[in-house]
Amino acid sequence: MKGSCPNCKGVIEFQSTSDFPYFPFCCERCRLLDLGKWMDGSYKVTRGLSEEELMDLPPEDWPTGEGEET
Ligand SMILES: [Zn+2]
Repeated sequence: MKGSCPNCKGVIEFQSTSDFPYFPFCCERCRLLDLGKWMDGSYKVTRGLSEEELMDLPPEDWPTGEGEET
């Protein structure tokens, strides 16, 4: 399967999403950067999140780019 990274638009290739830990991003860096982006914009972050905490976020909690805008 092929896709494109929502962060850097780079092409990603994977056998299945379960084989691809950073899906839908091309790499851990893009994933963390993107998470950081929406956290900054949508949530009040009062402390730094560790990489482990970010990794714990289930895909359902990831931003969709839809929804409320204030
Ligand atoms: Zn990327």
